[in-house]
Amino acid sequence: MAKKVYGKCALCGKEGKLTFEHIPPEAAFNNTPAKPIPGDEFLLRGNVYPWETHGIPYQNLQQGMGMYSLCETCNPLTGSLYGNEYKEFAQRAIQVAFSDVDPSKSEVVFQNVHPLRVIKQIASMFCSTTRIEQLDELRTFVLDKEKRGIDKSKFEFRMYFTRDNVIKWTGFNVLCIGGEPNPVILSEITAFPLGFILYLNPSEVHHKAGIDITSFSDFGYDDICDVHSPILIHTVNSWVPGDYRSREEIIATFEKNREWEREHSEV
Ligand SMILES: [Zn+2]
Repeated sequence: MAKKVYGKCALCGKEGKLTFEHIPPEAAFNNTPAKPIPGDEFLLRGNVYPWETHGIPYQNLQQGMGMYSLCETCNPLTGSLYGNEYKEFAQRAIQVAFSDVDPSKSEVVFQNVHPLRVIKQIASMFCSTTRIEQLDELRTFVLDKEKRGIDKSKFEFRMYFTRDNVIKWTGFNVLCIGGEPNPVILSEITAFPLGFILYLNPSEVHHKAGIDITSFSDFGYDDICDVHSPILIHTVNSWVPGDYRSREEIIATFEKNREWEREHSEV
């Protein structure tokens, strides 16, 4: 029997029956059962590596990764308006993530892309995964297929490629990085073979991860172009947004912390 979930739609805001929204779209490598684990479970367990998931409670999502977040109108609407373009974009990104090109020198060209449709799908996913009022402008942007342009002083979208078969997302996190005076506010969705970061109120002084794709929002709904993109491939081993350390680097940090604890616990 189909599960019935009621609540507020993450896009139009209407209360009612919610439908399961695949994040990323089902056709974009998200059609097999998934077992998501909330990041705060790792916090509760303390000193475990992020990939040590044995014994942690998880959801059992037979349909793939996603959540009951959109109403019966918004779900098929965004799927038909943007889902297919996103799927094609992700399929081409697979070739980038697994090609032998030198990432330091090369760029990739995505031919015949509808940039506005791609970024609206990404924005829709963030509306589902992060339910905060500050995204109301993005909700309007997603629901009106013709609407172009977003306030770049409020939102910055960035993208990277990944070879890790990971789907994860985080709420908005406030991070203080490298002694910079103002914290960075960001949320992340990793959806193999792509990852996206949404920065809120982005500052010029902050170093930001990923390739800036915010200008995708300036195109029209039917505009098609070739997108030239640097090849930026990140490894994803942690649930912390913006953390692209290798397993070896994470292990080394853990060892260092344990050593510090040992030294300071000896009285
Ligand atoms: Zn809705």
